Amino acid sequence: MSAQREPAKIAKPVEVLADSFVRADPVVWMAPTPATRVKALDDWVKEFDKFLRDHRSQDLVRLSVQRIYKTICSVCNGTWEEDEGTCANCGAPTEQSLQAAEEVQG
Ligand SMILES: [Zn+2]
Repeated sequence: MSAQREPAKIAKPVEVLADSFVRADPVVWMAPTPATRVKALDDWVKEFDKFLRDHRSQDLVRLSVQRIYKTICSVCNGTWEEDEGTCANCGAPTEQSLQAAEEVQG
């Protein structure tokens, strides 16, 4: 056998499967806002869980409503991004920048 050295291993990005899930989108009526929609989805999940319990072949299915949150400006409702003590969207000052200004004024 020859004493060949193995080539050095090279690190490279690899795409791997990390997680998987099923998404179900029930039709929910009368849910004009995110808050009313999530309430309607919670109610639908409870009803569908009852349905699944009555259909034993699928009663191991567990459903949950996933909530996705975002941070918005309380003034303009734009996506929150602070820029030197103000909202980057509308320019309204942040509470901290107002407090800092008051401390400077005394
Ligand atoms: Zn704003």
